[in-house]
Amino acid sequence: MTHAIIIGGSVAGLTAARTLSEHFERVTLIERDAFPEDIAPRPGVPQSRQPHVLLLRGMNILNGLFPGFLDELIAAGAVKVEVGYRADFIGRDGRRLPSIRTGLYTASCTRPFLEWHLRQRVKQIPNLTILEKHVVTGVIASQDKARITGVRAEAKQTHETVEFTADLVVDASGRSSDVVEWLKALVYPAPPETYMTAHWGYAARLYQLPETFNRAWDTFGLQNPKVPGVPFHGGGIFTVEGNRWIVILSGSGKNYPPTDPEAYDAFIKKIPAPDFWENVKEAQPLSPVYGYRNLDNRRRHFEKLDRLPEHFVVVGDAACGFNPIYGQGMTVAAMEAEALANLVGGYADKRQFNGLAKQWASTQAKLLDQPWSITLGADATHVEPAPPQNFGERLAGRYLKAFNSAMQEDAVVLRTFLMILHLVAPLSDMLKPGIVLRVLRHAWKYRRKASAYRDAAPETAPAQ
Ligand SMILES: Cc1cc2nc3c(=O)[nH]c(=O)nc-3n(C[C@H](O)[C@H](O)[C@H](O)COP(=O)(O)OP(=O)(O)OC[C@H]3O[C@@H](n4cnc5c(N)ncnc54)[C@H](O)[C@@H]3O)c2cc1C
Repeated sequence: MTHAIIIGGSVAGLTAARTLSEHFERVTLIERDAFPEDIAPRPGVPQSRQPHVLLLRGMNILNGLFPGFLDELIAAGAVKVEVGYRADFIGRDGRRLPSIRTGLYTASCTRPFLEWHLRQRVKQIPNLTILEKHVVTGVIASQDKARITGVRAEAKQTHETVEFTADLVVDASGRSSDVVEWLKALVYPAPPETYMTAHWGYAARLYQLPETFNRAWDTFGLQNPKVPGVPFHGGGIFTVEGNRWIVILSGSGKNYPPTDPEAYDAFIKKIPAPDFWENVKEAQPLSPVYGYRNLDNRRRHFEKLDRLPEHFVVVGDAACGFNPIYGQGMTVAAMEAEALANLVGGYADKRQFNGLAKQWASTQAKLLDQPWSITLGADATHVEPAPPQNFGERLAGRYLKAFNSAMQEDAVVLRTFLMILHLVAPLSDMLKPGIVLRVLRHAWKYRRKASAYRDAAPETAPAQ
């Protein structure tokens, strides 16, 4: 019987289990945690108390893999969110983003809620075995070390070591993956890494929606302007299942938001959008404030290695962890599960995957390029001192500024931005001739407005 093993039962592992179950006679998912019976955070996913936005691309993939998934989430209490609509968002230039209708929907819910529903669907896969409370401690290789033939796991309760053989091993064990150590033990080089951090921190708290809330929006968000030398703070309110809000505060440049409740309130009051505090002060806190730091970007470039063991691939955060402020990790995991199954499907004999490891590394690298560029490009504006830029980068930066300004007034530009951000359209859509024209037209109009204002302004300030 052909057999695939997946290490880790979070979003990357669960989606890979679903897609690979169509190509192998047996799939085994090994997870170190005991999955909670009810909807609840678990130790293996310490980020689960923080808000988790599911981008449109991710929702579409999940809905394709598990028909009716969006409806199921909504029926169970998640908030149906139309992308671009009923979102009150104040951008970095202090202006409110207009609301547009896109007719494209995703769900807003807590991370444990999403994962629980995903897991219930995955549990129904007939050729899948889920082995909980087992920690994978290493991979097993053929004698010549050219291919991975299985894994070694330790039962958490008995400490007994168990070995499993497989035709394909998928590492979906997240940021804490030991993959580099496993490769080194087999005398493979470690993949080169790109690492970048703008030293972001989060602080999140659950609230009961106040009865007085007029439900004018589902999501509220704010980003303070980033001024060199001035601490950057932002925040957001997400309506989630159970008539609740997750309130999130964020800060870059080590301006970590506080987790002490009083300091948390004081921080919200300082945010220059009075309606933020006006809303939150009426809401009943349901949890402590949970902080999270180390929201960095780390990408392992397996595609740059000359040698990789066959019959082994790495997916999800184990390969590339993003600063989550742009909400990409779960969607990228779902995209990878789809792409991996497409590659595997191309092999007639599911016992012979010679070449798959390198093929996957280069497919994955292409898939990661867009979300990686979005995150790194945005995070670069939070790094101080600003990294030096060449002429091309300065030009791109100016265009991006003009694009951001244009989307405040032009619904077509805003829609393009949202589709790129939600990973349903390529980054190159920003440079479509029709879009460039709209951005330049806006920049020209804005420039004329600005110079008219300058001409009309008195040269010296009026006497007090
Ligand atoms: C603060 C924060 C906020 C985030 N917000 C968002 C968001 O808004 N939107 C979004 O899309 N993404 C977000 N993410 C990212 C998202 O959580 C991940 O990208 C997503 O969970 C996919 O990760 P993964 O499945 O690869 O790994 P993880 O979610 O880290 O899961 C790894 C799994 O492997 C298991 N495991 C680990 N080691 C072993 C082992 N040796 N043996 C067996 N099992 C093992 C763990 O217990 C766990 O279940 C956020 C991340 C953080 C840190």
